Amino acid sequence: MKSGALNNTSSTLPQKNKAEYKPKGVAFAPTYDCPARCDHCNIPFDTIPPGLRLPIDTALRILDEAKEVGIHSFQIAGGEPTLYEDFMVEVIAHGKKLSMKAHRPPTNCYIAKDTSRMRRFFSRLADIGFAAGFRISCDRFHKAIAPELIADFIINSSDFFKLDRFSIGCCDINEARSIERLGEVVSHMNENGFRATLHSNKLETEHGTIKIGFWAPTRPTWKNVPDDEFIFRSVDPCLSAVKSFEKTAPISRFGCLGPEGVGYLWIEPDGSVRACCGNANIFIDELKIGNAAHENIKDILKKAMMNEMLSALASGGPIELAEMSGFDLDAGCKYTHRCELCFDVFRKAEKNIKPDEKKL
Ligand code: SF4
Ligand code: SF4
Repeated sequence: MKSGALNNTSSTLPQKNKAEYKPKGVAFAPTYDCPARCDHCNIPFDTIPPGLRLPIDTALRILDEAKEVGIHSFQIAGGEPTLYEDFMVEVIAHGKKLSMKAHRPPTNCYIAKDTSRMRRFFSRLADIGFAAGFRISCDRFHKAIAPELIADFIINSSDFFKLDRFSIGCCDINEARSIERLGEVVSHMNENGFRATLHSNKLETEHGTIKIGFWAPTRPTWKNVPDDEFIFRSVDPCLSAVKSFEKTAPISRFGCLGPEGVGYLWIEPDGSVRACCGNANIFIDELKIGNAAHENIKDILKKAMMNEMLSALASGGPIELAEMSGFDLDAGCKYTHRCELCFDVFRKAEKNIKPDEKKL
């Protein structure tokens, strides 16, 4: 292969010792709309047409086709997925019919602004047997979401679901700020007669215990957010390490799109399919592997499995991708997450890719 370029396809793949792209499941982003507008969010709100939504029929067909190729789980993310309740209810119901596992959807609880709409939504989910819970996000970046809304979401959902399945994620380099915000949520619960106590890693309520996690934000690849909002990691091409949850662990040769990885068939509102839901994926067009609005999932996957760069990502992550394309990893460069490195490798390579090699 020409040094310095990313050649997308090969008729010989999978090669010996190369992993194959292996999506873990389907991840729907049925809308990219979100009122929270967090500073660290990767979604380019200024360029994505507002109101664009993935048709429900398309999503149901995608689940059928995914099941046929041996994919057994899915998740609904976004944007804020609860803005599109019909999608959530119908897609989760269809997944259940297919015996596919629905992972907990994320939410920033914005729907709690309208109590009757929220309760109707919960009731419909309960009627179809939804029991996965929600991944609530709670941090100071959610400017439009007051802590009271999060408390109301939890209080109301306890009438329909077990709170033991819920979790709260706080994304802020400063954990003390997150704890303060969680304290405001808990105060509001208690003021409303819903007994709750905040501990270091859990929120205990009379209707179940909610797990709490803290993490530092990752840097959007397209925004100029001050460095002091992030934790930076070095790149270690010699580290074959797989999983490390240490915040400052170097970026290793983790095969993010391989069998042990984090690759999901990420379906966008316009039907585009991306090879992963990595944090920076929205901006890496080379990771678009088809469009499910007019292509079958089986055909999209077949093409993706013959793709050299996805194979490199499946076996050694962006470090292997950089090596394959002949680019030196800059030893001094630090990133907030592997997807930011991935973006960098693709952008450096872009200059060397001929226009007809750019897309699959
Ligand atoms: S709540 Fe999530 S989707 Fe919405 S702006 Fe924040 S990070 Fe982005
Ligand atoms: S490193 Fe690249 S391929 Fe891997 S999850 Fe992140 S964006 Fe996706």
